[in-house]
Amino acid sequence: MADDKLTKIISLCKRRGFIFGGSQIYGGLSSIWDYGPLGVNLKKKIKDIWWKEYVENRNDIVGLDSSIIMSEGVFLASGHLKGFSDLLVDCASCGKRFRLDMIEKVSDNVYKCPECKKEIDTEKNPPRKFNLMFKTNMSASEDNPYYGYLRPETAQGIFVNFSNVLNTTRKKLPLGIAQIGKAFRNEVTTGSFIFRMKEFEQMEIEYFVRPEKGDEFYKYWVKERYDFYLNSIGLSRESLRLREHSQEELAHYAKACTDIEFNFPFGWSELEGIANRGDYDLTKHAHESGKDLSYFDQKTKEKIVPYVIEPSAGVDRTFFAVISDAFCQEEVKGRERTVLKLKPHLAPHQVAIFPLLKKNHDIVKLAKNIFYDIKSKLPASYDDTASIGKLYRRQDEVGTPFCVTVDVDSLGDKKVTVRNRDSMAQDRISIDKVFDFISDQLDKQ
Ligand code: ATP
Repeated sequence: MADDKLTKIISLCKRRGFIFGGSQIYGGLSSIWDYGPLGVNLKKKIKDIWWKEYVENRNDIVGLDSSIIMSEGVFLASGHLKGFSDLLVDCASCGKRFRLDMIEKVSDNVYKCPECKKEIDTEKNPPRKFNLMFKTNMSASEDNPYYGYLRPETAQGIFVNFSNVLNTTRKKLPLGIAQIGKAFRNEVTTGSFIFRMKEFEQMEIEYFVRPEKGDEFYKYWVKERYDFYLNSIGLSRESLRLREHSQEELAHYAKACTDIEFNFPFGWSELEGIANRGDYDLTKHAHESGKDLSYFDQKTKEKIVPYVIEPSAGVDRTFFAVISDAFCQEEVKGRERTVLKLKPHLAPHQVAIFPLLKKNHDIVKLAKNIFYDIKSKLPASYDDTASIGKLYRRQDEVGTPFCVTVDVDSLGDKKVTVRNRDSMAQDRISIDKVFDFISDQLDKQ
């Protein structure tokens, strides 16, 4: 059933223009996906909600857009060059490669190949470390290369700009620096759709605080970020849970870490991680670069290295969670109806307008007038490329909360039919009241 749901979601996303396979006409690239017209619309809404909530509406967080390619020194300091690797094993039978921590252990040293189901004996075929960073030659010559790295997280761009931001904004602690941007990891994975990609997008905040405030702000951010998914994005409470990392699981630099997990079609998995990273990052970068990355507290007249709390979210995983939560199939009059019950503020279009008869010029003219009027106030689309039943089905699948149909009677009684996506109720509404009627209903949802 879960596999089935995943397959159906992928198919809907491709069919309706949310997500396409990367480089598809050349056979595709594994774990690389492109966002289509509706996908980019929904993805932008997610990012805008986050940015508005944390950067625009607050005075203690500022924004940043740092570069994707960063120097080797950055990742020597962060530990990514040495430690950011997975243990991989090859299946001797089918030749496929897997992450050791993601496959089933059968007995000591023996694992089960998820592909051909044969045994993988790690005594005979020992796992090897594989660094997840993408390295790129930045020299103009192949003979004399020097290398840069595509960042595996946006966070490092924040740490290396910590003193630039402090000096230019003159802000005091607690101070957050927020960034939305691409990150790259050469992940070895199959079949997890946009959950695990090689190129993905993150929304990260590095929130710098006085060391003794670390624990208090860590707790604050766990609650704040959980509430964000619940209230600002609108995910259902049953699909969300918190999972605190045990001491053994914690990365060596982290003082504490909690994952916000979502119940994806393949089970509970990480949507976001919130960590108290102590002073690890600033200390390491100060040491590696030789630059002073401390903070002078004017009040206490002391120099300190702040602690940092990191709420690190994935744009793509949030997108996936939104689609997965909204995906619904129900039986209507003996037929299966697929609906994305998206919250209206996330729906790519809030209204779709159709003329019932596209050959009738008066109906088309009236429908287009209504469309242009509504479009100036709400995200709307116009469609006359199929029969009314198909048009409704199309809009249900992309999550449009309301459809407006203009028919022959509309020319006389100046009324149109407004159909509600979820209840499928149809109301006959005066054209001059359509916008108010729909806004009213949207406000209630
Ligand atoms: P996982 O354990 O699932 O590999 P992670 O712990 O490595 O994730 P972090 O390094 O904490 O992930 O990254 C922060 C967030 O960035 C994750 O919670 C997730 O939302 C997102 N993210 C990380 N890796 C990927 C990826 N390969 N594809 C899509 N999103 C990702």
